[in-house]
Amino acid sequence: MYFTQTFIPTLREVPADAVTASHRLMFRGGMIRKLANGLFAYLPLGLRAFRKVERIVREEMDAIGALEIKPTVVVPGELWKESGRWETMGEAMLRTKNRTGSDFVVSPTAEEAVTALVRDELASYRQLPLTLYQINTKYRDEIRPRYGVMRAREFVMKDAYSFHADEAGLDAAYTAMGQAYRRIFKRCGLSVLAVNADSGAMGGSSSEEFMVESDIGDNTLILCESCGYAANVEKAVCGDDFDPPPSLAEAEARAASAPALEKVPTPGVKSVEDLCAFFKTDGAKCVKTLIYKGINAESGILSGREVFFAVAIRGDTAVNEAKLAAAIGASEAVLADEADVARITGAPVGFAGPVGLTGIPLIADRAVTAVHDGITGALAADFHYVHAAYGRDFVPCLIADLRTVKAGDRCARCGGALYEKKGNELGHIFKLGDKYTRSMKARYLDERGQSQIPLMGTYGIGLDRTLASIIEEHHDDDGIIWPLETAPYQILLIPVSYTGAVKEAADTLASALEREGLEVLVDDREERPGVKFKDADLLGIPYRVVVGDRALRLDPPQVEVKRRGEKECLMVEINQAPRFLSNLFT
Ligand SMILES: [Zn+2]
Repeated sequence: MYFTQTFIPTLREVPADAVTASHRLMFRGGMIRKLANGLFAYLPLGLRAFRKVERIVREEMDAIGALEIKPTVVVPGELWKESGRWETMGEAMLRTKNRTGSDFVVSPTAEEAVTALVRDELASYRQLPLTLYQINTKYRDEIRPRYGVMRAREFVMKDAYSFHADEAGLDAAYTAMGQAYRRIFKRCGLSVLAVNADSGAMGGSSSEEFMVESDIGDNTLILCESCGYAANVEKAVCGDDFDPPPSLAEAEARAASAPALEKVPTPGVKSVEDLCAFFKTDGAKCVKTLIYKGINAESGILSGREVFFAVAIRGDTAVNEAKLAAAIGASEAVLADEADVARITGAPVGFAGPVGLTGIPLIADRAVTAVHDGITGALAADFHYVHAAYGRDFVPCLIADLRTVKAGDRCARCGGALYEKKGNELGHIFKLGDKYTRSMKARYLDERGQSQIPLMGTYGIGLDRTLASIIEEHHDDDGIIWPLETAPYQILLIPVSYTGAVKEAADTLASALEREGLEVLVDDREERPGVKFKDADLLGIPYRVVVGDRALRLDPPQVEVKRRGEKECLMVEINQAPRFLSNLFT
């Protein structure tokens, strides 16, 4: 391909909103252009790189026996009503009506569509296991799309769905998929961290996230240097930094010898910091109480579309709302507003406490059970209790692990110190069980002719995000440094001036390289060599081959070969160059 015949509009300047390397370099390298906030068009060079990633993903899916299908992007709203997600997906799902008034969805994901397809065709256990995948466009109406194609509204995902007659079949597909993902990211040149998204520190994984470390990552990862424990902060657990939690009887016995509860005036003392300063103590001695609202809660203790409850947590720790929602089986847990807090506690925000709180359930974090001489709000403005004891002065109806694990906490597995990193999720594999197949009434007949619900797994990879992450990991100040397998072209051929003998030699060499099966871009622009070299570094094509007057006049004639990212050049005989370069790619 000749530069003047393709469309690679390189730029010197950087758009103001391009704060990440991948966004900046894809824009400057003429790979993408923005159509609207969160909507990007791939230009020819960008699309070539994208297709390389797509090919790797497709090859690895095919290799494990997954079958490619192509469902539609626009799907009937009815399917989402069947699964219940029409209600729960929220504003991120783009809904529309057609001219007859029927509801449609622009797919944010495809569990519903694929389950519906399989449901209608599945009859017998003999058809299982079955793994289908698509590489298709998705749309999510993100509030704040950012970082170019890293977090765009429209994007392409590979999503796969597997269907099984039993757990063993699901386990096997899940394991094979995890291995395929590791190969995909390795071929893309990405250092990926596989994060167990389950809460259990004990293994028995049913969900794994594939993360790349990134300063702009939207996930916080909790990692242990000693044993390799890695978890998303939403699910991360830590070891208790106190003796094992006491039973209620033990707590009562312990509290019996503690000083009696005492109500103390604390004018204007609201936050835990205020409290620590006022009583000259630390957060571990305080019990912070927060009023929460659970949305669509479905546990034994709490159920309803909107239910209020109190959460008691040690003052030096923070509530993890994802864990909290999971503990009460709610889709979401949000802090109650000031008016609700005042109504429920009878005091302004800052003075809630577990002692004497009535009317709503009290839930406590595990660590609160260790507090037997604590400070807490007294449900009255400008008053706190001191000497509050779990088991004597307050008894929660549920004790759960609700704390946000942070750097410095102890690893639950090995006791080592945990640390934090930001990460971006590129892929996720997940055992769904019968969540969708049950709600959408998929059935098959087993060996005895009995009707059964198939088990299901779901497995996604964001392709645009993977491409952007490759650039994040492989670039320098001058531009991209493509790994061999994902480069949009393999060879950039630069005639120092595209005229006369140099032009002739460059054209002949380009044809010979293409006959070797290499992908060649010839920079035939009428630009100074300096401009061409700068763009060569920007575009990051793995091998730069320079055809110049002087080297051509040598006997035998030579060209200069340079690997992007390396300083040294190599002189190669022009006649040997095609074989020499093709060997570098095999
Ligand atoms: Zn550890």
